[in-house]
Amino acid sequence: MDCPCSSGEPYETCCKPFHVGQLPDSPLQLMRSRYSAYTFGLSDYIIDTTHPDHPQFLKDRDVWKRDIDRFSKITTFEKLEILDSSDATVTFRAHLTQGGKDASFTEKSLFEKVNGRWLYKSGELE
Ligand SMILES: [Zn+2]
Repeated sequence: MDCPCSSGEPYETCCKPFHVGQLPDSPLQLMRSRYSAYTFGLSDYIIDTTHPDHPQFLKDRDVWKRDIDRFSKITTFEKLEILDSSDATVTFRAHLTQGGKDASFTEKSLFEKVNGRWLYKSGELE
């Protein structure tokens, strides 16, 4: 199976290792693995890779999980396009549809390494 993050690599050797516990080496790997986690509804992975300072960080994990599950269910993940990446940022376009309507967006995400783990800290829509 091709990885949902649009890398062209098999899921087994692309994002799966991160979903089962390996730590991403770079913001780009984390970003890709978070996108593919959304396609599978892996809400725990999304939550565990979000920085506590992120504006959307919710203390109530159950509510947050439900939000993510719902988003994953109603969204069709067409394609991930990486536009730019650096030591701490990734700019991407997520090609999505919801109920047949285009829900794509472009975001510049900021990442921070905390205790050896990359975390998604904030994002700005472009
Ligand atoms: Zn991947």
